[in-house]
Amino acid sequence: MSKFWSPFVKNLVPYVPGEQPKLSRLVKLNTNENPYGPSPKAIAAMQAELNDSLRLYPDPNGERLKQAIADYYGVQSRQVFVGNGSDEVLAHIFHGLFQHGRPLLFPDVTYSFYPVYCGLYGIPFEVVALDEQFRIRVEDYQRPNGGIIFPNPNAPTGCLLPLEAIERLLKANPDSVVVVDEAYVDFGGATAITLVDRYPNLLVAQTLSKSRSLAGMRVGLAVGHPELIEALERIKNSFNSYPLDRMAIVGAAAAFEDRAYFEQTCRQVIASREQLVGELQRLGFEVLPSAANFVFARHPGRDAEGLAAGLREQGVIVRHFKQERIRQFLRITIGTPEQNQALIDVLEHFHFIQT
Ligand code: PMP
Repeated sequence: MSKFWSPFVKNLVPYVPGEQPKLSRLVKLNTNENPYGPSPKAIAAMQAELNDSLRLYPDPNGERLKQAIADYYGVQSRQVFVGNGSDEVLAHIFHGLFQHGRPLLFPDVTYSFYPVYCGLYGIPFEVVALDEQFRIRVEDYQRPNGGIIFPNPNAPTGCLLPLEAIERLLKANPDSVVVVDEAYVDFGGATAITLVDRYPNLLVAQTLSKSRSLAGMRVGLAVGHPELIEALERIKNSFNSYPLDRMAIVGAAAAFEDRAYFEQTCRQVIASREQLVGELQRLGFEVLPSAANFVFARHPGRDAEGLAAGLREQGVIVRHFKQERIRQFLRITIGTPEQNQALIDVLEHFHFIQT
């Protein structure tokens, strides 16, 4: 800490990202990346953009990408916002839509960036406990609030809230912005974007980091009523008027246009997930029902932190969270069938030597 820091910075509690190891031989199942590469068409589009045009600024509105997203979801491009990863999109949402003096509501077990943004933007918040099965109960969100946000499927649990429950939440909170963070929705959920034309208080955030395998490129988006989008554009233009570079715009647009590749890789991840769940259950794990590209699992006889450390020693990294309610769980990203098998092999070995 330096004397030059403002008191504001001294008091910030920043987010701690998952480990990005330098050793490539590790089986990396800790930060929910896609085990398959991005669409070859997206890569080709980015390669084609690598030319003299890079001396020119990109389109500040990223219109080419907004139109591709609008076409994909059957909405208008003025209902679409794009930014540098959904983390940046979420930052603008917190900054522009949640500062009402009343507490923002989100689940007690959820994406750990939410309280960090509240700290950054001075937003009061209250956490709402998940039920015994780690599910969101929308009835618990019917109290005065300055907004509601949750991931669907939730992170790090993977549990899915049906659209019908989201509609009940929207109807019960007509004066609050409800943000559904759909980082993982393509692995088994139904998007709430189909509801945006009926609910002006609904904003849906998504990322290209997971189902479209472009985590390294940093592209996220939000879809909602044009007035909500306008608030985000105002924040963006007061912060970084060019959030996306030329390659990100064309690469992300091509990824949305390559539906076949997207659907095929999502199907592969879902099939691997179902297989991994079966294997983990065979080894005595309890696995929460997952609609994401990860599973959240605990073993009644094992300390999860020790298990994560033991796995790491054997070259497999998974994620462990120290938060009290979930400290017995491991969050395991779905890898290729070979990577999943490597995880099971190590777990089986532990099982064998300890039982
Ligand atoms: N929302 C949730 C629920 C997430 O788990 C993540 C990934 N850590 C993000 C948003 C951010 O994704 P990105 O910034 O890569 O788009």
